[in-house]
Amino acid sequence: MKYREMEKDALAAELSGLNAKYVSLREAGFKLDLSRGKPGADQLELSMPMFDALGSSDAMLAENGFDCRNYGLLEGIPEARRLMADILEADPEEVLVGGNSSLNLMHDCVSIGFIHGYPGGNGGWHKADKVKFICPAPGYDRHFSIAEHFGFELVAVPMLSGGPDMDAVEQLVRDPAVKGVWCVPKYSNPSGVTFSDETVRRMAGLSPAAGDFRIFWDNAYAVHDLYPEKPDVLLNLPDELKKTGKQDMALIFTSTAKITFPGGGISAMCASPANISWLKKHYSYQTICFDKINMLRHAKFLPDLAAVKEHMKKHAAILAPKFAAVLNTLESELGGLGVASWNSPNGGYFISLDVMDGCAKRVVALCKDAGVTLTGAGATFPYGIDRHDANIRLAPTFATPDEVEKAAELLCLCVRIAAAEKELAGR
Ligand code: PLP
Repeated sequence: MKYREMEKDALAAELSGLNAKYVSLREAGFKLDLSRGKPGADQLELSMPMFDALGSSDAMLAENGFDCRNYGLLEGIPEARRLMADILEADPEEVLVGGNSSLNLMHDCVSIGFIHGYPGGNGGWHKADKVKFICPAPGYDRHFSIAEHFGFELVAVPMLSGGPDMDAVEQLVRDPAVKGVWCVPKYSNPSGVTFSDETVRRMAGLSPAAGDFRIFWDNAYAVHDLYPEKPDVLLNLPDELKKTGKQDMALIFTSTAKITFPGGGISAMCASPANISWLKKHYSYQTICFDKINMLRHAKFLPDLAAVKEHMKKHAAILAPKFAAVLNTLESELGGLGVASWNSPNGGYFISLDVMDGCAKRVVALCKDAGVTLTGAGATFPYGIDRHDANIRLAPTFATPDEVEKAAELLCLCVRIAAAEKELAGR
């Protein structure tokens, strides 16, 4: 029965039962964590054979004969460009393979915009009185903090079931101060949403006032399907941009962080020839080249998209039961009470839970006191402010399945306590 339909006495009795259970669980001294969006150790094991792909007696030559041990090839070795292009469904000629972090590439691209601007604009964004970035929320906190770090104003737009609210985005880009929009188009962090075809088409058709406005398209979860037999399908942005003739409007990113090793993988950026030559020009002052030995190792371990997909199936086999443990617990403990809603993603690393307005901080605090660490309430919103105080990001990947289940049970108890408290306070 929904909490708001319960008689006051019945709800008070429910709350006291929940509190008694909470006290006994708190005494159990749990130390559980649903805050870390990183692979578990068993997932990392999957990529250990990569270290056998290149030995000291192997030629360290790329397929074009380039000696990977030496300086050169700022854009990366051909086989790594092809691998990352396959993951992004892009043309290898438009792909630059970077170092160990795509976030680093994104930061560099913002920094290049800030200092020098982009083709189509009037020079560095630092010259403008105000620079704004559109931040679909809930979203990836590190995207928002890059823009905040550069002093930009963060403009939140709601994430809907098919992606960002495009009416709002189309309206906002009429402002010349708006220089960018952050997007995680597939299995979005944290909402799990994959942008609909219509959203991708409307993104490709944007008519920004700023000639150097860029879509920061972070396709971090491009191949991270939880159920390989029913993957979400994302419309290809470069193809759509070619149709609208606005190829320069997007910078596309990905990495193997959650394919091989976070912090030890390779990253990539895909962009129009004009953008790539602009970025290479500025990068050439920053580095001579990225780590080609790691690129070669990756390309030998994952020679083509088929190999990537096989590898990702192994990740999915480890992750799907953990997601199922959380989702089943949410359904059995909270279903029908009218106190929370959540997504059931087909991929990615997160489950997004919305509790009753005004309850997210209380839930996170209750969990913390009982030994379950969650991502801070509000973390997925610009400036860390969730106006509804409702959203909580759950990351079930790092803990063991048993820990995930225990943590989810305690979380649900806390959601019910916070909801019952709120409901009773309003009577
Ligand atoms: N982009 C998104 C959407 C992420 O969720 C993450 C990590 O969680 C990253 C980028 C970080 O990627 P990298 O390790 O390649 O910097």
